[in-house]
Amino acid sequence: MAIAFHERYSAPTEQAAIAACLQNIASGGFYTRALCGLFRTGFGVPNLLLTPSCTHALELACHLLHLHQGDEVVLPSYNFPSAANAVLLAGGTPVLCDISPDTQNITAQTAANCFTPRTRAVIAVHYAGVACEMEPLLALCEQAGAALVEDAAQAVNAFYENKPLGTLGRFGAYSFHSTKSYTCGEGGALICGASDLPAAEIFREKGTNRTRYLRGECDRYTWQGVGSSAVLSEPAAALLFTQMQSAGEITAKRLALCAAYNALFEPLERRGALRRMFVPAYAQPNGHSYYVRFAGASLCERVRLALLEQEIDAKTHYVPLHLSPMGQGLGYGESDLPESRAAFETLLRLPLHTGLTLQDVEQVVQAVSRAVGGA
Ligand SMILES: *Cc1c(COP(=O)(O)O)cnc(C)c1O
Repeated sequence: MAIAFHERYSAPTEQAAIAACLQNIASGGFYTRALCGLFRTGFGVPNLLLTPSCTHALELACHLLHLHQGDEVVLPSYNFPSAANAVLLAGGTPVLCDISPDTQNITAQTAANCFTPRTRAVIAVHYAGVACEMEPLLALCEQAGAALVEDAAQAVNAFYENKPLGTLGRFGAYSFHSTKSYTCGEGGALICGASDLPAAEIFREKGTNRTRYLRGECDRYTWQGVGSSAVLSEPAAALLFTQMQSAGEITAKRLALCAAYNALFEPLERRGALRRMFVPAYAQPNGHSYYVRFAGASLCERVRLALLEQEIDAKTHYVPLHLSPMGQGLGYGESDLPESRAAFETLLRLPLHTGLTLQDVEQVVQAVSRAVGGA
């Protein structure tokens, strides 16, 4: 592929960090502690538990919600299946809601449309690292006595009114999967408040208080409750530490490329050929992705194939959960949640990674322009 969709950033210090880590690969070691410290001091995230994936973090969050049969959790249909699975695994019922066509995020309105007396929580996705409008969502949840969980998989180092995403709800979940901007191949984190931290630590360490033991707070650890093994390995933490040390550079580069796309697409938007990605004033994104929307599914597919012919890899995104075999099994119909379907059919994500140049961005924009019938 001449212009790849995604490429991993490689930090100059990563080889040395991995080599040093191999001296002692026991989990919870130097790099795990350094990484948690970096999140605390450098990113404003005080309580962060590293997990093997964002999926694990969401499962941990849903476990800690203590759902009972019939309890409902509202989440967007335009989403990865992880959050919906986490609700089902915790014994609850996922209720799929629609999104705003501006941001592809849920809003207080689209979520409220799905509230019932059984609503126990909302899982909000910050799509493309652009914050949901949190104030009305938090107010809605507070009023209904529901918890707000942030699926901030794409929103590490992104902000809502300068507050770090993942820290605004009762729980937040990050992803460091290989497709994300800061990555260790597979990885994640749960963010929670001080009151949920002890129970989260116990679940994550096979139901034991081993985390307290490692801190020297007790002289042996024992089985305390239901748990699983959801700890990030130390070599992964070492790699991720070097990525997060470079987060400023990674983010600046990605945001500059997004700004270039945005400037170069302006004439096409004025002509009505497409709609550019929109970032509300309350959101300070991290350059997780850049996308455009087209007027219809066939135009979107035509552009995607035209780019592919020039070896430019552009990607559509989620098949909405309500249109999937599992969603159909849960009773959803084809005509439900029309904005989620429209995003699926007309949104195209463009190449974006730290190896991309401004010339590459120009080339992509020219290819899109030709494909929609421009100059
Ligand atoms: C990437 C992603 C996930 C899954 O993350 P893993 O770390 O692979 O489990 C979940 N939700 C959203 C919104 C994502 O973008």
